[in-house]
Amino acid sequence: MSCFKSKYADELAANAKYIGTPGKGILAADESTGTIGKRLASINVENVESNRRALRELLFCTPGALQYLSGVILFEETLYQKTASGKPFVEVMKEGGVLPGIKVDAGTIVLPGTTGETTTQGLDNLGQRCAKYYEAGARFAKWRAVLKISSNEPSELAIHENAYGLARYAAICQENGLVPIVEPEILVDGPHDINKCAEVTERVLAACYKALNDHHVMLEGTLLKPNMVTPGSDAPKVPSEVIAEYTVRALLRTVPPAVPAIVFLSGGQSEEEATVNLNAMNKLFKDKKPWSLSFSFGRALQQSTLKTWAGKDENIVKAQSAFLTRCKANSEATLGTYKGDAQLGEGASESLHVKDYKY
Ligand code: 13P
Repeated sequence: MSCFKSKYADELAANAKYIGTPGKGILAADESTGTIGKRLASINVENVESNRRALRELLFCTPGALQYLSGVILFEETLYQKTASGKPFVEVMKEGGVLPGIKVDAGTIVLPGTTGETTTQGLDNLGQRCAKYYEAGARFAKWRAVLKISSNEPSELAIHENAYGLARYAAICQENGLVPIVEPEILVDGPHDINKCAEVTERVLAACYKALNDHHVMLEGTLLKPNMVTPGSDAPKVPSEVIAEYTVRALLRTVPPAVPAIVFLSGGQSEEEATVNLNAMNKLFKDKKPWSLSFSFGRALQQSTLKTWAGKDENIVKAQSAFLTRCKANSEATLGTYKGDAQLGEGASESLHVKDYKY
């Protein structure tokens, strides 16, 4: 038997397909307490539960935004939080036609003997946690594996270890009714060119699909969250059409058509850059790809909103308008119809790259 028949098989396939509905995408709002602390510090807001809740309410309750989203990834704390008026966030999403998702990894640790390469932790008790999150309303999950490009990296060890970690996680999610987002992020850090990124992306994705197959994962009930294929952060930039060509070519070579949707991470691109690159892919390859191509952006959906809000109630309406703008622009990018005409909010063109980024 090639793939494990979960009792949730039909539901998994339906939910994965729904998340990939053209015109919709994912908001990654699953920053861990430490990471959200850095975001809040950048606007001089204290990292306490009430402020984290307020930011998430601002995002999820933006009038009109949920029509452009099919999923929101949450950190565990947020899965159980409510709006100020007492409505569970999970309910807000359900009413808006958005599936709640949950980050289930426990961050990365260094693989001894490597030059700072990592593996992702969190497999212990993962089945029980998934069952609990399903019970609380979550329908998909995220696990981020991280690889880096350098003269001798990623090593075979890191590629293999991370691919099998992702596959093991994916199988456990499916057993418990959660669609796994498989996220092997290749960091943009470095002076390498786009060819190098393409080569590494293809090698990593091929290893991931071999591991998923070995673990009997049902691909119809999964989503892939890759990096776009771009030059390194210290190399000259290339036009969005070039990024689109290299990215879609790498994906066509490695991602089986059974996967319903590919939802990109933004990886430190500016808000506008991430949107324009996604749009170029959907415009140039409209009928030439077997999966839908959408977004699962964290930084590239929230940056201008965060800056506009600055922790002040009187800025909420303006901040929500910035968020709506990004959601709508990215929705258009999934259809290849974005005209580059979004009102750029504060910081929308700013690079959001952070070296050796930890989520
Ligand atoms: P960025 O879009 O900010 O790269 O993050 C998305 C994400 O969820 C990474 O795991």
